[in-house]
Amino acid sequence: MLIDSHCHLDFSCFDHDRGEVLDRCRKLAVDTIVIPGTQASQWQKQIDLCHLHPQLKFALGLHPYFLNSFEPAHLVKLTHLLNQYQNKVLALGEIGLDTHIDVDWELQIHMFEQQLTIAKEHMLPIILHHRNSHNELIRILKAKKFTQGGIVHAFSGSLQAAQTYIDLGFKIGVGGGITYSRANKTSKTIAQLPLNSLVLETDAPDMPLMGKQGQRNSPEYLPEIFECLLALRKETKQEILQACSYNVRVSLANL
Ligand SMILES: [Zn+2]
Repeated sequence: MLIDSHCHLDFSCFDHDRGEVLDRCRKLAVDTIVIPGTQASQWQKQIDLCHLHPQLKFALGLHPYFLNSFEPAHLVKLTHLLNQYQNKVLALGEIGLDTHIDVDWELQIHMFEQQLTIAKEHMLPIILHHRNSHNELIRILKAKKFTQGGIVHAFSGSLQAAQTYIDLGFKIGVGGGITYSRANKTSKTIAQLPLNSLVLETDAPDMPLMGKQGQRNSPEYLPEIFECLLALRKETKQEILQACSYNVRVSLANL
């Protein structure tokens, strides 16, 4: 059984065929799908979808992309939902820092720090979003003494950066990036990391796989990412399959 540790199945581009996508996932043994939070207006939809489809699980948080519509009441609502669903919510996320977006950097840092504090208060791991921001993320995680770990979503970067996150208690999210080339830096990093640090993800509908550029990405393509991971690693298929699922279960709450 495969777990997609990061998939935005709540997005409206899945509204017309979500049930069919989930049927196809089940046939492909993709039996658990984690839907990370993005913005306050989506949280109830995520919760409702997870109630409707038991193979879906949710995390809640404020993604840096959507912070231009942030209101202080959202943090109150977040805390309220984390209390209400303390036996269901998997993590606080996705949260993080992104240098490629038109969102004030100081606001991003402030919201990341605030949500780290909330994660600590609720004893939750986090799902971490990065883009050109490893140094700042690692600096803040250390400064805040954040020890609950979680998943570095769609990891790309050096072995040294990955190892630093692992030392801080995180698993490394392996996504469609590895389908593009075995020779790129991230693929080389993923090949060298300890197996007990790796988790699989699609980030659907984003991050299309090689050969599917311009199309909606989907959790039903997770087995293709798994096959690419297999090609990068020395362990057996069974060992990698078991490890990737186990690693998600130990890095997130309530799973
Ligand atoms: Zn995401």
